[in-house]
Amino acid sequence: MPAERISLRSALLNFFFPPLCFCCGALVTSQTDTLCPQCRVRTTLLTTDDPLFSLAWSRICGDGLCEDLVSGFRFEKDGPVQALLHALKYRGGEHVGRSLGAEVGALVRERAWAPALDMIVPLPLHKAKFRERGYNQAEQCALGIAAVLGVPVRRSGVRRIRWTRSQTTLAYAERQENVDAAFVVSPGEQEFLRGKKILLVDDVITTGATIRACATALARCRPGGLYVASIALAEQ
Ligand SMILES: [Zn+2]
Repeated sequence: MPAERISLRSALLNFFFPPLCFCCGALVTSQTDTLCPQCRVRTTLLTTDDPLFSLAWSRICGDGLCEDLVSGFRFEKDGPVQALLHALKYRGGEHVGRSLGAEVGALVRERAWAPALDMIVPLPLHKAKFRERGYNQAEQCALGIAAVLGVPVRRSGVRRIRWTRSQTTLAYAERQENVDAAFVVSPGEQEFLRGKKILLVDDVITTGATIRACATALARCRPGGLYVASIALAEQ
């Protein structure tokens, strides 16, 4: 499409659907911006020496189930990251997911193991949940990461077979019990995954119990390595 047609299209889009900050509602300059500059500075980027990161890393990677963890932000109640993740889940978050995924993809790219990845697997939703929402928010994030890394997203490999009751009121050990055996890899896929280096993606990780349950199902196929990325980590 010629450049002037693109700018006319975006001008019309901005006129009829002014791009707004997902947190405070202020006007932002382009359709690709998800936060205004004031809300953007209020986001907390996670560093690998953050205690929240260390705890999640040891839960997910400490026993060798997964090789490494990458996460972009600290999830803070009523903060801009919560607003973005809420939009991702409940407001048809394709654009938010791609944008957050691109940011986390840039962090993944810095890891030494990133060039060896064979595929990205979004944490699957149970099909009843998928029908209700119409999309999988983890998949939207995975697509954003995939665009940065140039690695394909594999959707069909793993399925969520158990409907788990709400996790929020459960303690860590109970959560693990609640999600164990919730995921299966289809028989046709098991051979394909053998020896592959897989990046497993979710939007938010709290205790790591769900991601571990999914990683455990994948590990039975003897992949070449399991890695985990999330947009945010939340305190329990
Ligand atoms: Zn704002």
